[in-house]
Amino acid sequence: MQSKLKILVTAGPTREPIDPVRYITNYSTGKMGYALAKAAIPKFEEVFLVSGPSNLPAPEYVHFFPVSSAAEMKTAVLNLFSKVDVVIMAAAVADYRVSEIKEHKIKKEGKSDLVLTLVKNPDILSELGKKKEKQFLVGFAAESENLIDNALKKMQAKQLDMIIANNISEEGSGFAYDTNIATILNSDGTQYSLDKMPKEEMAQIIIDYILQRI
Ligand code: C5P
Repeated sequence: MQSKLKILVTAGPTREPIDPVRYITNYSTGKMGYALAKAAIPKFEEVFLVSGPSNLPAPEYVHFFPVSSAAEMKTAVLNLFSKVDVVIMAAAVADYRVSEIKEHKIKKEGKSDLVLTLVKNPDILSELGKKKEKQFLVGFAAESENLIDNALKKMQAKQLDMIIANNISEEGSGFAYDTNIATILNSDGTQYSLDKMPKEEMAQIIIDYILQRI
């Protein structure tokens, strides 16, 4: 049954430009975030999807906001934040960007090494955690070690209501796979483990689980 609630989902990687032809990114494909946005359509009055570069088609019945860099994602998310009741940040936002984007293509001639200075990107979810009023905030934590501990720390540091922890070193879990393995951690200390399953199926479980808890 459809609720009167509105949801914002972020998906995909971000792309941090170096010069007009190069960028820094990660292996995120957007599959989990797009699956969450699609699973939310029948359950929410409105679905907003802010997506970094992805090869997936924009889902129907969703307000779609394509972005590229973390800075663009932050602007889009902050513009929508006051309109929504739930935010799921499934995007793999780049932690760093280059300090100075070169206006012209960097030439290799005369250089044996090239040093890029990286500066920290804003943490979008932390900013939402500080700003939140009514919103239920859900984060993702892709970890390759100390999964639960690291995810719990992130949930607390970013003032989240829920975090979904993925062990990306497990076969069939995390970036680019069609399946995922996850543990949902709630701010009240309870946990819910999800065995390996297709991302679409996991997305439906996560959406229903969130709706039960808000
Ligand atoms: O990168 P990290 O593991 O801290 O990501 C955890 C959560 O924070 C994810 O939900 C991710 O989308 C979000 N995040 C963010 N802005 C960043 C980095 C991460 O919103 N700069």
